[in-house]
Amino acid sequence: MVVTEQETDAWAVERPGPMATRPLRPVRRAVPEPGPGELLIEVEVCGVCRTDLHLAEGDLAPRAPGRTPGHEAVGRVVAGGPERSGPAGPSGQSHPSPAVPGIGDRVGVAWLAGTCGVCRYCRAGCENLCPESRYTGWDRDGGFARYLTADARYVYELPQDGRDASELAPLLCAGIIGYRALERAELPPGGRLGLYGFGASAHLTAQLALARGATVHVLTRAGEARRLALELGAASAGDAYDAPPEPLDAAILFAPVGDLVPVALAALDRGGTLAVAGIHLSDIPVLNYADHLFQERTLRSVTANTREDGRSYLAEVAGLPLRVHTVRYAFTDADRALADLAADRVTGVAVLDLRA
Ligand SMILES: [Zn+2]
Ligand SMILES: [Zn+2]
Repeated sequence: MVVTEQETDAWAVERPGPMATRPLRPVRRAVPEPGPGELLIEVEVCGVCRTDLHLAEGDLAPRAPGRTPGHEAVGRVVAGGPERSGPAGPSGQSHPSPAVPGIGDRVGVAWLAGTCGVCRYCRAGCENLCPESRYTGWDRDGGFARYLTADARYVYELPQDGRDASELAPLLCAGIIGYRALERAELPPGGRLGLYGFGASAHLTAQLALARGATVHVLTRAGEARRLALELGAASAGDAYDAPPEPLDAAILFAPVGDLVPVALAALDRGGTLAVAGIHLSDIPVLNYADHLFQERTLRSVTANTREDGRSYLAEVAGLPLRVHTVRYAFTDADRALADLAADRVTGVAVLDLRA
């Protein structure tokens, strides 16, 4: 515990509100102390996700005042807390403990920060639906800080393929959530996939789908994002409200815009599936059964992810020549990064680089 009792820099959401009201403020606070079974991690890079914006602006109700956002943190383990002890649940059995990262290891801290481990969802492999699930940057402080603590069982080992921390950070939410959304969209092998919105998560998901042999159509209002989509190998890129050039077997709605739900459903072929990837969506307009759902079209949500999703995704992309389009910000510019995201001025993924 060499570094504790020192003060350090972090960003905190003091009063959620529109970015113009500067909800994110720099703060000085003590280096956090890792609790039982936790790790203290020195952050190198933290990605900036739209969920951080929802937390700052209050679309997601705060669960504690002054919370530090950030759930795509890559950093080095600098200390471990005491060992976890005692029974973990009504069965009296401790959780099986996987290999715990050691001091100096580079790890990733993502959105899912903890689950109960004993409810019917946890036991059925759906820990993303655990009613007791906790989230980084919402239930506990996240990576817009020089140090954070995390439950050792919920951090990820990262691909050891020489990738820079700035390219690994976006994989932790943008990548993993896109992976789960693609699973939920049930794209058949070689199928036609529509991506509505083309930000951080979509540009990674497009590359995963292309690597799996899909034809990808991108529908987004931002011209620069459309150019990036074509550069990455999309078959077409049009405006969000345009019809794609062919019917879709599956679609994922990344834009938090409920108005696009009927648009995307109407673009599906018979039997197609639309998965809504976001944690927050504006209201969905009235649907017409014949135009939007009949012919066995399916509408489904995506709720966070399991650790298994995270591990499977990181293993799958370890071998892929993924192009992670990042826009770097200094740590001191975290509020500007969020404001740029709010104003759609970020193409790809904004990342805070704490190494400078
Ligand atoms: Zn549970
Ligand atoms: Zn996220």
